[in-house]
Amino acid sequence: MSHLRPLAILGGTFDPVHNGHLRAAWEAAEALDAEVRMVPARTPPHRPPPIADAVGRVALLHAALEGQARLVIDTRELDRDGPSYTVDTLASLRAEIGPERPLVLLVGADAFAGLASWHLWRELFALAHIGVLTRPGGGHALPAELAAFVEGRRTPRLHGPAGQVIDIAITPLDIAATAIREAFAAGNEPRFLMPETCFGDPALLEPYRALAL
Ligand code: ATP
Repeated sequence: MSHLRPLAILGGTFDPVHNGHLRAAWEAAEALDAEVRMVPARTPPHRPPPIADAVGRVALLHAALEGQARLVIDTRELDRDGPSYTVDTLASLRAEIGPERPLVLLVGADAFAGLASWHLWRELFALAHIGVLTRPGGGHALPAELAAFVEGRRTPRLHGPAGQVIDIAITPLDIAATAIREAFAAGNEPRFLMPETCFGDPALLEPYRALAL
């Protein structure tokens, strides 16, 4: 049987995208020998809206990803009306790639610990593997229900299209979009926390620079 390259996704608001996102996605791509898609999210109505609109966040992602082909953008959540549940996004990807190809949902270790509160969370494992982005020393205790469910699913190497849990060790980069927005709001330039290509076109960062006005 021919080797099917895994497809992995990293979802997020990306308001704005930064080197923490990019480095985590890159290391997952290398660890899994995967194509990684960055999937920008709409925000639910009860959450504060992102500073940049969807078009602006995607334009920044394009700038950030310039010069490489391993990480790509997937706008399916923006193309659908309303916020998307992860289970729907995975079902849509599964329909696109067929039943055999490994699909991997990348989540931070903290998000993974809260997985049992996600909509139809058990269904996620029928559609995809879960790649847990793990930082050294960052052990997150799992609630009993989730721990019992994932027992026996943990693997050091993915097999099959879905259903397993793999830890992916990533370099810890203490960068958050919140801190970047705060830097812009203070009139500073958060250079070297985001790719230089993001600073090339002033229009791309205008919504964030406007926070200082
Ligand atoms: P905010 O500060 O606005 O909450 P954020 O920087 O955490 O944003 P998100 O868009 O919410 O960014 O994150 C998308 C995904 O990237 C999440 O799975 C999150 O765990 C992961 N992520 C965010 N920052 C880092 C980082 N520094 N290192 C590794 N993964 C990260």
